[in-house]
Amino acid sequence: MVALQRPPWVYMGGRLTEWDKATVHVGSEALIRGISVFEGVKGYWKHDGSELALLALREHYHRLTRSALLQHLPFTTPYEGFRDACLMLVRKLMTKERDLWLRPTLFAIEGHWGLDTVTDLVITCYNQDKKQPEPIEIGVSTWQRPLDTGLPARVKSAANYQISRLARIEGRRQGFGDMILLNQWGRVAEATGSCVLMVRDGRVATPPPHEGCLESITVNIIEALCGTLGIPFARRPIDRTELMVADEVALAGTLMELGVVKRLDFRAMPATTPVLGRITDEYWACVRGQRQHPAVQLTPV
Ligand code: PMP
Repeated sequence: MVALQRPPWVYMGGRLTEWDKATVHVGSEALIRGISVFEGVKGYWKHDGSELALLALREHYHRLTRSALLQHLPFTTPYEGFRDACLMLVRKLMTKERDLWLRPTLFAIEGHWGLDTVTDLVITCYNQDKKQPEPIEIGVSTWQRPLDTGLPARVKSAANYQISRLARIEGRRQGFGDMILLNQWGRVAEATGSCVLMVRDGRVATPPPHEGCLESITVNIIEALCGTLGIPFARRPIDRTELMVADEVALAGTLMELGVVKRLDFRAMPATTPVLGRITDEYWACVRGQRQHPAVQLTPV
């Protein structure tokens, strides 16, 4: 895993701010209780280098709004204001050679136990290599995705990533690049920062959000691409043992993109991935603007 390089500018308090001046108070709920919700958004250069565009920005805005609602964080910025804030920062930081990843975060900067909460939208942006992800080796964590009545996976809150962090530390000790988190029934929930896709007999399956995963924007895109490609796609529970005997497995998410799994716990996965290969080709052609698909919405910068 590559550490993110520190950019010179951040969006905070409604304007661009120098990185060193972008601070929150030590007494804020953002810090003392880890109260924030966030998104991760990818910016892709077109295949011919003519334009940079943000993928599924509106969908990310809507999920941020839902997370804020569920976490009782006031968020009144309309989509247009959110979009313009992202574009302002991206225009300042984009470079021709690299894609980028934006992290809009809504912090609770004032308030106490949910009373008189004041929030601030902070956006950070990091340059990213243009290359596609390498196949990955993943394990199965002993840490679990909590219940919807505990730490709901549907809310993309910073607190949710406590478990992901523990699972990654556990995985690193075992030589794995990522880890599958099971839910309280011992079925597949998701990975630490992405969802799980499995192929069996030419059909794609992924756990639905009520199994303990985030409502993934990437999975929605992949479902639509599968529809066009004529690949059957189902959202259904997946046992751990069913995942172990899958023909092909991948992790899917904004930052992960489509990471094909080459080793799953004790099993070396088959070297060929005919179904995932087709989906991956289509995904890249669409996000790079070589092909158009209604499910792949690109906001030019
Ligand atoms: N699950 C978790 C825990 C994640 O952090 C992410 C990345 N946002 C995903 C799933 C995939 O969601 P998306 O495709 O919307 O990025």
